[in-house]
Amino acid sequence: MKEQTLYYNGDWQKAQSTDYTEVINPTTEETIGKVVNANQKDVDLAVASAKFAFKEWNQTNPDVRADYVEKLLNGIKERKQDLMDIMIKELGTSHVFADSTQVGLAVAEMSATIEEIRNYDFEEDVDNATVIKEGFGVVACITPWNFPLNQIQRKITPALLAGNTVVVKPANLTPFTALLLAEIAHDVGLPKGVFNVITGTGSDTGDYLTGHKDVSVISFTGSTKVGSSLYEKAKTNIKKLVLELGGKSPMIYLKGGDLELAVKNAADTVLHNQGQTCSALTRLFVPKDELERTKEVIKNYYKDIKIGDPAEEDTIVGPLVSEGQMETVLDYIEKGKKEGAEVLVGGNRMDRKGYYVEPTVFVNVTNDMTIAQEEIFGPVLVVITYDSVEEAIELANDSIYGLSGGVVGPEEESVKVARQLRTGNIAINDAERSPKAPFGGYKQSGFGRENGLYGVEDYFEIKAIFR
Ligand code: NAD
Repeated sequence: MKEQTLYYNGDWQKAQSTDYTEVINPTTEETIGKVVNANQKDVDLAVASAKFAFKEWNQTNPDVRADYVEKLLNGIKERKQDLMDIMIKELGTSHVFADSTQVGLAVAEMSATIEEIRNYDFEEDVDNATVIKEGFGVVACITPWNFPLNQIQRKITPALLAGNTVVVKPANLTPFTALLLAEIAHDVGLPKGVFNVITGTGSDTGDYLTGHKDVSVISFTGSTKVGSSLYEKAKTNIKKLVLELGGKSPMIYLKGGDLELAVKNAADTVLHNQGQTCSALTRLFVPKDELERTKEVIKNYYKDIKIGDPAEEDTIVGPLVSEGQMETVLDYIEKGKKEGAEVLVGGNRMDRKGYYVEPTVFVNVTNDMTIAQEEIFGPVLVVITYDSVEEAIELANDSIYGLSGGVVGPEEESVKVARQLRTGNIAINDAERSPKAPFGGYKQSGFGRENGLYGVEDYFEIKAIFR
């Protein structure tokens, strides 16, 4: 692992800053290593290298750019085990989830975007105009810790394919995945300055990077709180802003559907990755007269979930990413109890080393409770009952967020419900999600879309040349 170095201008660079952050393994509570908190000079140098590289990269044939990005994809595939190992250590994500989703999904989505762009026309004629799609310039990619590879992939793949160069600033809780990605980029020979990684805190390094005069696009994934503050940064020199923010997504179970499937669908999203997933289906809506049956299905499903060392292949639930995140989740659980919700499963910190919280399910929840409105970002599911389908839709939409959703029920009725939900993604009866389809939020879950051509289009400037 490259410790205390930054990656820009095609090489590992000794930082100007001597300040650093220690990275903790949440399973053992031990320090894994240190990363630099890049200072303003470090950021200036990284942005300058990306700015310089942009000129040539933007003029490079799109197929050649796609070849380079494909090399990076192949490098990721080759180093899959190393990537999995590091994110199990720094994030505490389970082996099975690291394999299938943290790396597996990143590879699937990256492949799909590259495939789509190979058949894309970057130029078209409109009367006497040649309309050209090209990059903006330098994209600042600010990413969270919960999917330390794929949140970066979802930005750099489209940004690079569109002709931009990137400076990535990963979250300081999980920076080693990003530094390993830089190692891969270096080994596969991406042109100098096209792909850069700097580490550091959000409040200093991230703040300075997003306000940098030579950054043209801020592509941010993270909390709604920080995301909304970036409008201030973007306005200084009219930067484009792409925001992928928080969520509190609903799963609606309709009578006549498969209740076990609805429970499994919602529960899996709060069990895997310990519920630290923006698109988690954290609110389960069921008809009032199905509540007792739902409780039995939930208890039955949760009893076999293995909680333990995330490195073990049969573990489903590992620790929360940090002590702070654990405290936040425990606070929400206490609020739920105080506001009158009933704990059906779990509800406490686990008596073992590491930042473990029991998978928790609340019933007797009303939609106005804090645990039904705020993003907990932990292994917590709330069950809310409804009297009519119209009420279920209204309650599901009664949220500041609109990222994801699920409906389990008779197909035609489920589609009708899905059409009325104010959210960017909805899976019906656990339908598989195509990696070419767009992902992104309504309302305070952000704007802009990731994946496939929808993702690339966010990173295009459009020029018309008349002749
Ligand atoms: P966060 O907002 O605290 O941090 C995200 C990133 O922003 C980090 O790299 C952080 O260092 C940086 N940052 C923090 N303050 C900054 C500032 N003032 N200026 C510039 N950068 C700053 O979020 P988090 O705790 O890392 O991640 C969890 C959040 O991310 C959750 O709300 C989750 O829903 C959201 N998320 C959304 C998606 C999506 O696709 N919509 C995906 C994953 C996570």
